[in-house]
Amino acid sequence: MINKRSNKLIICLLSLVIVFTMLFTNLCSLSVYAASDNDNMLLGNPSGATTDTSNSNNYLIVKPQYDISYNNSKHEPNWVSWHLYSPDIGSTPRQDDFRADTSLPSGWYEVTASEFSGTGFDRGHMCDSEDRTATVPDNQATFLMSNMLPQAPKNNEVTWENLEAYCRTLVAAGNELYIYSGGYGSGGTGSDGYMTTVGNGVVVPADTWKIIVVLPNGNSDISRITTSTRVISVLMPNTQTCSSNPWGYYRVSVDTIESLTGYDFLSAVPTSIQNAIESQVDNGPVS
Ligand code: MN
Ligand code: MN
Repeated sequence: MINKRSNKLIICLLSLVIVFTMLFTNLCSLSVYAASDNDNMLLGNPSGATTDTSNSNNYLIVKPQYDISYNNSKHEPNWVSWHLYSPDIGSTPRQDDFRADTSLPSGWYEVTASEFSGTGFDRGHMCDSEDRTATVPDNQATFLMSNMLPQAPKNNEVTWENLEAYCRTLVAAGNELYIYSGGYGSGGTGSDGYMTTVGNGVVVPADTWKIIVVLPNGNSDISRITTSTRVISVLMPNTQTCSSNPWGYYRVSVDTIESLTGYDFLSAVPTSIQNAIESQVDNGPVS
């Protein structure tokens, strides 16, 4: 016979089972997320960006195509991170649909498509258009102004572009890449001279930087990063004389970019490995 008291006990036990099942399911999905290969931010969140709108100068935007730390004072990204492997590269033509990112929190200034025109600076993609050509929506996403920095044409169209193309050469050779890029400082020299801002207070960086972790195609990516993993990082002047040197000339250590920006890159990689790969300057092939 089940009396009232054992009924209560059964309900209690059932509730416990339900609560633990929910907890377990949540933990599972969390651990799956953390271990998820090919995530655009698998190697870490360099500035601890969050989706809290009060954190307006280090605001995390996660898109299927790339992740951003957005700076609402500078009207541009602090950094953009993305994973690049052969499935990202298809035959979608360049969509060229530069436009405001209307997904920014309400009340924030949205940089417009025409805002850099006549300034002598290009709308410089961080996540490159050619890195997202599998589908039309993927390519369109790269044309959001939240993915742009004002880049001197001779930086963007020559030296920076050559490094972007080299990244795709690495992918074609059987590698997958984790990439972070952004700007540092303020004041660059475009085709109409020196400027500290363009348009509605969009900060012109003094330098553009990029960090590329190169892994042969495979799984469990974090666990495959060792002290001998190739990491290419560059710091290029945002000027018209940038193109007087090839991109390889601008290689620096990750530590250099970390000390300039105050960010911690590759924070998901064990510290001992970070210490080794972040202190070296790449001297591998450049084409
Ligand atoms: Mn570009
Ligand atoms: Mn680091």
